[in-house]
Amino acid sequence: MGTMTLSVETGQQTATKRCRFCSAALERTFVDLGMSPLCETYPSSADLNRGEVYYPLHAYVCSQCFLVQLDEYESQENIFGEYPYFSSYSDSWLKHSENYCDKMMNRLGLGDQSLVVEVASNDGYLLQYFVQRSVPVLGIEPAANVAKVAIERGVPTLVRFFGAQLAKALAAEGHCGDLVVGNNVLAQVPDLNDFVEGLKILLKPEGVLTLEFPHLLRLMERNEFDTIYHEHFSYFSMLSTVRILKAHGLKVVDVEELATHGGSLRVYASRAEDQTHHIAPSVSNVIVEEKRSGLASLEGYERFARQVKETKLALVDFLIMAARQGKSVAGYGAPGKSATLLHYCGIGKDLIEYTVDRNPYKRGRFLPGTHIPIYHPGRIRETRPDYVVILPWNLQDEIMEQLQFIREWGGRFVVPIPKVTIY
Ligand SMILES: [Zn+2]
Repeated sequence: MGTMTLSVETGQQTATKRCRFCSAALERTFVDLGMSPLCETYPSSADLNRGEVYYPLHAYVCSQCFLVQLDEYESQENIFGEYPYFSSYSDSWLKHSENYCDKMMNRLGLGDQSLVVEVASNDGYLLQYFVQRSVPVLGIEPAANVAKVAIERGVPTLVRFFGAQLAKALAAEGHCGDLVVGNNVLAQVPDLNDFVEGLKILLKPEGVLTLEFPHLLRLMERNEFDTIYHEHFSYFSMLSTVRILKAHGLKVVDVEELATHGGSLRVYASRAEDQTHHIAPSVSNVIVEEKRSGLASLEGYERFARQVKETKLALVDFLIMAARQGKSVAGYGAPGKSATLLHYCGIGKDLIEYTVDRNPYKRGRFLPGTHIPIYHPGRIRETRPDYVVILPWNLQDEIMEQLQFIREWGGRFVVPIPKVTIY
């Protein structure tokens, strides 16, 4: 009898989703992009007969704190344990990192008595510049294969997931930072509060924390919906960032707008009680702009889904028209974000025959889910497609310049975002 009662009770479990920051029930959709596989998995030909796991890509906006977020559908270990992305593969990213290093050296007067701690330090792409300038560093990186590369290039790196517990242990051993860096990591943290609490603990009393992340305001303005993917759990505005940091005893003292990742913010924060850093006008400037764009009300967020659907209709319309006219269509690039775009729009090999990529790791493999083959860039010259769809739209100028030769046979470029445009 007792067992029966139990099974009835477990049958009544509710599946309320809760905000990752404030725990309010998540009931308002920001945008529902359907189902897609993890975007950084590129199946080889041997994998093609196996199934692939698809996860919902449904973003919510919290009606209490306006944090835009996905549920965590896959464990952090599965996504990041052997992450194939090495930051040092990108020249422009290295330049960005070296500039940041020089800027921080000057701004904070760092020297051989200072400590710079970076959370999610990847292959040491950033900290190497501090090492070269004789500033002591500590990297924290969960992916063992990536951390190994950092250690080999002389960047001391702990192979651990970061949180309050690890921060306490490091603080107890005297490893607090004059500068604590979190570049493009905050979005990927499932337990946001534990992580931010850890950042605070790791900061010296007058230390500075900098965080870089894609700016939700630009994502919305520029319709960058394909930058929403499973690996990114949270999407931050300045409004939500200030609120989250404040809840953990941190204050935002300055902010810069960067062109990286379709428009990012670099936020500077210090401990709330630290009187040595004053709040720059840049902080309220960004907040005013966000409020004007509707980011302080739910209605402001609800417009986004309509705009995204419109983009899908226009892109699919165009590709169907091209197919009906017997035109050939190829892709350029195999960025992670192409998985979101192609799955949400329902575009497969029937509409884009193949794509090409300069990264040798991806070549000979296939895009996840759609199984669009990825070839060497030379394939474009060989097959002379009528249209080339530029999937990494953020690099469109560079790519159009490289592929000017498609004009020889009357080829045209298609840029899908912010809205379908033919060049
Ligand atoms: Zn919330």
